Amino acid sequence: MKLLEERIMKDGIVKEGNVLKVDSFLNHQMDIDLFNEMGKEWKKLFAGCNINKILTIEASGIGIACITAQHFGVPVVFAKKSQSINIEGDVYTTRVQSFTHKKVYDVIVSKKYIRPEDNILIIDDFLANGCALEGLIDIAKNAGANIIGVGIAIEKGFQPGGEIIRKRGIRVESLAIVDKMDPTTGKVFFRK
Ligand code: 5GP
Repeated sequence: MKLLEERIMKDGIVKEGNVLKVDSFLNHQMDIDLFNEMGKEWKKLFAGCNINKILTIEASGIGIACITAQHFGVPVVFAKKSQSINIEGDVYTTRVQSFTHKKVYDVIVSKKYIRPEDNILIIDDFLANGCALEGLIDIAKNAGANIIGVGIAIEKGFQPGGEIIRKRGIRVESLAIVDKMDPTTGKVFFRK
């Protein structure tokens, strides 16, 4: 998606350790007009797919998922990061290894909010090694729900997540795929 690529080139900051900072429009301050265009794009890509629920993970996925949900007219469920897995009650749980924070955490979704009859679109901000996404897929599968596909804002194509998930037969629609980024020059190269 050209608009998102242009914004990454203008405002994204390439950090050491393969981290792209997009705090000024996506991860901290949020550009809602841009989110709206992203939502429109996913609506086009997943037209006619009968999606009835969007699943994301806190925190950065929530804003994007909510604006996108307005285009689909469906609710958003977000997986919560939990400290106290054994007192949460009737929940699906999974473990996620965080790329940015380098730690493992548990995430939960109440069994009330994902049902076997759901047709789910998973939305997240980044796809890197795929751990966050694997966690969400795991939860949806445990619920017996149907995963229609995944919408990612920025995929880092030089990390293995995208390939792993696509090889599992899951449709992944990333709006910008970064193939290379250089912390010295700050340049970002996109997949054509
Ligand atoms: P994965 O689980 O695919 O390795 O990483 C996905 C999660 O890590 C995303 O939800 C995002 O929050 C975070 N993440 C991964 N790489 C980056 C990055 O380069 N920049 C930012 N801002 N977040 C990232």
